[in-house]
Amino acid sequence: MFNGHSHVGFSTRAGSDKKVKVFSTAKQEYLPEEFGVVSKEDMEEALWKATAAFETYKKTTPEQRAAFLENIAEEIINIGDPLIQRAMLETGLPEARLTGERGRTVNQLKLFASLLREGSWVEAVIDPALPDRKPLPRPDLRKMLVPVGPVVVFGASNFPFAFSTAGGDTASALASGCTVVIKAHNAHLGTNELVANAIIKAAQNSGMPDGVFSSLIGEGASLGQALAKHPAVKAIGFTGSYRAGMALYKTAVNDRQVPIPVYAEMSSINPVLVLPGKLEADMDKSASLLAGSITLGVGQFCTNPGLLFVLECDTTEEFIGKLSTQLQAIPAATMLNQSICKSYYTGREKITTEKGVKAIHLGEDECSAYKGSVALFEVNATDFVSNPNLQDEMFGPASMIIRCATADQLKQALHALHGQLTGTIFGTEADIAHYEECIDVMTDKVGRLIYNSVPTGVEVSHAMVHGGPFPATTDGRTTSVGAEAIKRFVRPVCYQDCPEANLPDALKDSNPLGLMRKLDGRYTSDPVTKQ
Ligand code: NAP
Repeated sequence: MFNGHSHVGFSTRAGSDKKVKVFSTAKQEYLPEEFGVVSKEDMEEALWKATAAFETYKKTTPEQRAAFLENIAEEIINIGDPLIQRAMLETGLPEARLTGERGRTVNQLKLFASLLREGSWVEAVIDPALPDRKPLPRPDLRKMLVPVGPVVVFGASNFPFAFSTAGGDTASALASGCTVVIKAHNAHLGTNELVANAIIKAAQNSGMPDGVFSSLIGEGASLGQALAKHPAVKAIGFTGSYRAGMALYKTAVNDRQVPIPVYAEMSSINPVLVLPGKLEADMDKSASLLAGSITLGVGQFCTNPGLLFVLECDTTEEFIGKLSTQLQAIPAATMLNQSICKSYYTGREKITTEKGVKAIHLGEDECSAYKGSVALFEVNATDFVSNPNLQDEMFGPASMIIRCATADQLKQALHALHGQLTGTIFGTEADIAHYEECIDVMTDKVGRLIYNSVPTGVEVSHAMVHGGPFPATTDGRTTSVGAEAIKRFVRPVCYQDCPEANLPDALKDSNPLGLMRKLDGRYTSDPVTKQ
């Protein structure tokens, strides 16, 4: 079923003599299949093909790219149960979760197909010429977004479908007109091979150029870094650790003659404000929602609520007791891979040595069975503010309560927060009005604000923002989930006095694509009429 090869465009390459295997935390052993580490020459060829293919691919019509994306979705579904079974072995994630994630991945591809068909994402802006303007005439100016070139995508370990080989980064880059080279995640190489096969099949079915997609196997420190340094690469999409994300960012900015953008989604611990009125009104439900969110997917979500800011009031102890009881009822479960499991327990151990931190509940260490058990810590706001180590990501089913004696302390603690993907408010209407200033401070730190619900579970839609200020991401102006993710892989081009025949369809007078465009400062889908 697996040949263990890299995909260099439409060809496969066995790679060097160096082979890697995937460790299954579910089976607690290495899986038998061997995957060959790609050679330097094969990597060069993949990038050369991606560059050559870009020249053709960028000229495909929106309809052709939409059909390609839909065909990828179809081919992924056609793999059927073997895809789910392999991902279960490689990630330890349960069948229902993976089936749901496959559905989300397919819908994500379809969302970009519909975005392409609607077309207005190219942000066409037309300022027609004003030849009679005094003292100077205005030239005809027309602007739109165009693809940047070959994009390297680093698949994430915690979403083997939705943030990996055919995940959001790949879907948005291909939708924009960029070619894609994947650095396959070493924790799910079999899953990667099946999905890469599906993408290649779809590319061939849809008449896309050889090199529109490649998937390479190797280690991050060598292959990943070589890709980031390569002059053919024009942008990088990444989801993973702060350490690797920043290593890539530094390489892309410092170690290249021409720096490129790196869209890395890294570390986020997702603060939650638990406000007094809400505890009074809805304590049981709040505790149960939070316990479910902290432990969902064994806490291996980038939106896991890792900090709970609680204002001291009459019900504080009761709430903490209830949350702890709820958490203790949730059994330890298999984690994604050996290194994530080890760092989770190391992180837990380290945090208990920090000043003022107390463990309210520390589940048994089940690292030898690759299972993550729950943990709940607490610290006061003063110790939190003075110790940035308390903001290190603990990737697993753990959270920390920050006890705030006053609203002022809460505000100071929020000021000390690093950038985050999400911020959540558990509050009544009165709470929300009363603590408006605190919510304001939190708004400055996050990419998405959630009221009276949990941060885990990210809708893939037009308005979604899955991004946030550093260190949640390296570029807080963008999102890696939802339709707007396409904007990471494009740049604006302005055509000045360009002959009508040479203009892209999106900017032509007749508006043949029927786009909503900004014409002389106003949105319209009308054609341009010459005076
Ligand atoms: P990772 O170690 O950051 O690896 C992600 C990808 O980057 C892998 O393909 C990896 O290759 C590559 N890589 C590693 N070091 C690199 C370097 N110096 N230069 C270039 N590429 C490099 O992430 P992970 O294995 O998925 O998980 C590890 C930790 O990341 C977790 O414990 C968690 O803290 C964090 N994480 C965060 C999120 C989030 O959404 N915020 C999601 C997943 C994980 P190799 O496989 O060869 O190392």
